[in-house]
Amino acid sequence: MSPTFSFRVLHTDGAARRGEMQTAHGAVQTPAFMPVGTRGAVKGMTPRDLREVGAEIILGNTYHLWLRPGDGLIAGLGGLHRFTGWDGPILTDSGGFQAFSLGAKRVMTEEGIRFRSHLDGSEHLLTPEGATDIQARLGPDIAMVLDECLAQPAPLATVRESTERSARWARRCRDRFLALREFGAGELRLDSETAESRAPSPESLVPSPESRPHVTNPGQAQFGIIQGGTVPELRTLSVERTLAIGFEAYAIGGLSVGEPADIMYSVVGHTAPQLPADRPRYLMGVGTPLDIVEAVSRGVDLFDCVMPTRNARNGQLFTSVGRLTIKNAKYADDGGPLDPACPCYTCRTHSRAYLRHLFVSGEVGAAVLNTIHNLRFYLDTMARVRQAIVFGTLETLRQSLQAMFSRPLSDS
Ligand SMILES: [Zn+2]
Repeated sequence: MSPTFSFRVLHTDGAARRGEMQTAHGAVQTPAFMPVGTRGAVKGMTPRDLREVGAEIILGNTYHLWLRPGDGLIAGLGGLHRFTGWDGPILTDSGGFQAFSLGAKRVMTEEGIRFRSHLDGSEHLLTPEGATDIQARLGPDIAMVLDECLAQPAPLATVRESTERSARWARRCRDRFLALREFGAGELRLDSETAESRAPSPESLVPSPESRPHVTNPGQAQFGIIQGGTVPELRTLSVERTLAIGFEAYAIGGLSVGEPADIMYSVVGHTAPQLPADRPRYLMGVGTPLDIVEAVSRGVDLFDCVMPTRNARNGQLFTSVGRLTIKNAKYADDGGPLDPACPCYTCRTHSRAYLRHLFVSGEVGAAVLNTIHNLRFYLDTMARVRQAIVFGTLETLRQSLQAMFSRPLSDS
């Protein structure tokens, strides 16, 4: 691991781990949930709000920040931490998923992903080296490799081909990352033999002086991503290929894309135990509170999902007794708090009647107050998960979350 990145397991309960991840911008207690700040902001929240609800690490999105305002501009202003005012740990994704899902006229080749910007139609090429350079400029504490995102379901041969390509891209990302780490902000030179043997376009490995990547955060760590769809053999193949390259830690990608929950749990249960016990394991894009505790019980440590923030803006709230739809007429004159068991600012200060009024009136404050509550609910749930692992009671917590979040909406 890098000098600034480390992980240690403090307690276990079955396969579940209570740990601490150290990054260049501080420690994260795991299992941890990472609120998603797509464009350099968690929608509706200031960094002060994020601290108050208990966030320790947030996500940024490489695709969006690269296209606007630009990785060069952010690097020039001191990097993502200074630019956003969030001084805690930050993880950025590689941008592949958004280039894949948002980019128009997208073409995937061995070189990378060629697409037109969803903002202005301009043409871009996102390569493994490019995704690594952009993240070097943005300066998060954790950068992700560029992987190929596959629409599911796909034929077995296609999943295999994609898994193999993701492994080749992971190698190119790591080579680039190590070259940047070695040379830092200085001259970037790569061994020509390495470049030729590993990359299909050696010239893309050696940027011209004017485009030489600036390394904003020398303590950055890089995570590899395990792919392989829902095919256990391909997941194992991807684990072998990715571990052979060697990263600070590993993520499980390509899940939470519409597959049934039991399939997702089974792929996680198959994959997580094959990852090194002394590194954090990150399940990308997951999920509901129940999904999270199910994955924790299979050995996962890190999560991110837009669900608490997006649902908050849609008036869908997570509470200690299940889900709640704030626009329902029955809350029109309800003077009680959103969730009597929640200590967040929203629940301490406002009534359901007021929150419903803000929501049906389209007030900006509805999104702010609902997001404060939903994130606090998620982050408090993670604190309960960590405590349950220490006390050996995770299964009891899992059962109570299952009872609460697998039933239909209580008030719809
Ligand atoms: Zn609350």
